[in-house]
Amino acid sequence: MKFTKVGGIKRAAALARATCIFATIFLAGLLLSIGCSLLQASHPKSEGKSQPSASHIQTRDPFGEVERGPLGKHEIAITFDAGAEAECFEDLLTALANAHASSTFFITGRFAHDHADCAAEITKHGHEVGNHTWSHLNLTQQSDDVVRDEITRAERAILQVSGQDPKPRWRAPYGARDSRVLKIATNLGYRSIYWTLDSLDGVEPAKTPQFLIDRITSKSDTELDGAIILMHVGERSTASALPAIISDLQARDFHLVTISTLLR
Ligand SMILES: [Zn+2]
Repeated sequence: MKFTKVGGIKRAAALARATCIFATIFLAGLLLSIGCSLLQASHPKSEGKSQPSASHIQTRDPFGEVERGPLGKHEIAITFDAGAEAECFEDLLTALANAHASSTFFITGRFAHDHADCAAEITKHGHEVGNHTWSHLNLTQQSDDVVRDEITRAERAILQVSGQDPKPRWRAPYGARDSRVLKIATNLGYRSIYWTLDSLDGVEPAKTPQFLIDRITSKSDTELDGAIILMHVGERSTASALPAIISDLQARDFHLVTISTLLR
C-alpha cells in the first residue's frame, strides 16, 4: 500500500485522536477509582478475611454486615446478647458503670417484655440496645414472614421499654444468618452486627471466669483494636470475669464503647 503525504497527516491526526481518547478513558477510570475509594470510606464494602486496613470497617457484602470496627481508634465494643430466657444483669451494669465503660446489649423482644425494668436500665446507664429478634429462633429455618415478624415485633417491644430504637443494630440469634435473612433485615433498615472475637461464654461446656479472662486479654493490641467482642448476659462466669477483662483492656489504653461509637 502506498503512503501519501495527505494519508500520513490523516494517520497522524487519527493517532492523536486515538491517543486523546485513550488518555480520556484512562483519566476517567482514574477519577472513577478515586471516587469509588472515597465512597468506600463512607459506605464500607467487604474486605473478606483479608488483613484489616486502617480506618475501614470490616463488613460482608452485599448487606453491609459488620464484624469489626475501624483500626487505629483504639476502641473495642464489648457486646452482650440476651436470649429469650435470659435473666436480669445488674452485675454487668455495675461492672461497666464502675469502669465508665459503655456497651451494646442485643436483647430479644421477649426479654424486654419480661424484664422491662432491666431493659430500661441499659439505656439509663448510657448503654445501647440492639435487636436480637423476638424469641431467638434460628432465622435460617423460618419463613420470610416469620423472620420479618421476629425482627419488627422485637423492635416495638425494645423501643417501648428502653426508650431507644434498636435500629439499625441487630444480631442474628446463634449468629445464624444467610443471604435471605440478611436481605430481609436490610430491607427493614437493619445492619447485621457480627463479632470479631467470641468469648465462648455461651458455648458448652460452661467456662470458668479465668478462661474468659485469658481468652480475651491474651490477644495482642493489634488483634483487639476495633474488635467487637461477643459475650452473654445471664452467665455467672461472664459477670465474674468482666471487671478483670475491663481493667486489663483499659490499662492497655483501649476505650470500651458502644457499637454506634465504634462504627462512627
Ligand atoms: Zn443470642
